[in-house]
Amino acid sequence: MSKVLIIGGGFAGLSAAVFLSKANHQVTVLEASPKLGGRAYSFLMQSQNDFVDNGQHILMGCYRNTLKFLSEIGAMENLYFQKSLLLNLIEKRGNTLVLGGNSRIYPFNLISALLSFPSFTLNDKFSLLKFFVKLPFISKNELKNLTVEDWLVKSSQTANSRKYFWDLLIVGALNTDPHKASAAVFLEILREIFFHGNYASTLIIPVTDLSNLYCSPTEEYLEKNGNKISVGEKVIEFKVEENKVVKVVTNRNEYTEFDYVIAAVPLHSLVKIKNNGLAIPTGLKPGHSSILSVHLWIENFCIKKKFFGFIGSDFHWVFKNGKHFTLVSSNASKFMPMSNEEIIKKTAEELKIYFPDFNKADIKNSIVIKEKRATFIPSPSFEEKRKNIRSVYSNLILAGDWTDTGLPSTIESAVKSGLTAAEIVNRNS
Ligand SMILES: Cc1cc2nc3c(=O)[nH]c(=O)nc-3n(C[C@H](O)[C@H](O)[C@H](O)COP(=O)(O)OP(=O)(O)OC[C@H]3O[C@@H](n4cnc5c(N)ncnc54)[C@H](O)[C@@H]3O)c2cc1C
Repeated sequence: MSKVLIIGGGFAGLSAAVFLSKANHQVTVLEASPKLGGRAYSFLMQSQNDFVDNGQHILMGCYRNTLKFLSEIGAMENLYFQKSLLLNLIEKRGNTLVLGGNSRIYPFNLISALLSFPSFTLNDKFSLLKFFVKLPFISKNELKNLTVEDWLVKSSQTANSRKYFWDLLIVGALNTDPHKASAAVFLEILREIFFHGNYASTLIIPVTDLSNLYCSPTEEYLEKNGNKISVGEKVIEFKVEENKVVKVVTNRNEYTEFDYVIAAVPLHSLVKIKNNGLAIPTGLKPGHSSILSVHLWIENFCIKKKFFGFIGSDFHWVFKNGKHFTLVSSNASKFMPMSNEEIIKKTAEELKIYFPDFNKADIKNSIVIKEKRATFIPSPSFEEKRKNIRSVYSNLILAGDWTDTGLPSTIESAVKSGLTAAEIVNRNS
């Protein structure tokens, strides 16, 4: 049994803690903020007497590590699972379209969904078909220096296939501009989503707030097994002897009783810890993309589906939960300088365009959440450098969505890194 200090109480840190606790190690989690969850958290909105997420989080069937973690803490009943991929899309003036796969005909379900999509011409279908047929034979190395945009142009993807398929997938999966994102990372995701069985491409949506989904169950799980979580405790410095961290200094305590330290914090937080022991390739500074979430409580308004993807809007999704509607804009830099009033006005105008029955006067409450550093940008240069970031201390293990998981900035990347960190401790204990 090893004693492990985990810095950071987001998906990476909490999943590492659970996997370690399961393997009978003794864990202490130190989280700087007063609450757990990191970039995936919820808070009590007093005026609604309800918990609200910082942003709608969607999982997919291919999130194998995340589902393993959620299953371990008993959270599976708080998820809604699609049986097969189904995307309801909406165009201006309310025209709706369905992009859906048939689970019985895997591995041809995606192809059949694309071929039967009403807005695609023969040419669109042919270019998509050609792309997916080639996919299993492309190596990551071939795409190493390309952006997603380069790859799509090289593969002659049509304007229509961009509008109804690629643009939504890219912004949803990578939260960034196709001109900035690495084609190699996109290849990895496409393979994860479309070549691992019918279930891999399905969407999984939490039916409760994020704290209730995984933060509270993790707290209970860890405490039941004699582990500790300390919130409001920020790590400031590592004291090092002979290439080993021997003391972790926080704003409240000093810790010396540990065998391993797992730093599960974003790179920009890690570099602020004194003596962090990072070997960082020169010029490494990942950019970040923002996400805007507009929560509205609307009377006398209904949308027919649980959620819709917008076609041709600055917003990408709208989710419904009773009278609570959440509109999400990914890669949302254009909204960041706007005031909340301007954003609500723009949101109401957009809703009116897509749902002509909507009436602005029916909005009874609202909150705007801007996450400026929601995700890192998986650019081709960051992807190359990411592989070479390491800790120079023998007992300091790095975790977090930004570490070398091959995945973009997602929950699955964070949990994969948490599991890998736990495996390193297991192997060496
Ligand atoms: C609005 C929004 C929507 C998103 N939607 C999706 C989605 O639909 N699907 C998806 O897969 N992903 C989504 N993501 C991305 C996902 O939330 C992140 O990839 C994931 O939560 C990252 O987890 P992490 O543990 O690596 O890092 P974080 O969540 O950032 O956790 C790091 C923790 O470390 C703590 N910390 C930092 N420094 C210190 C210190 N010195 N001492 C102690 N603690 C410290 C921080 O307070 C934080 O709690 C979204 C993100 C946002 C913001």
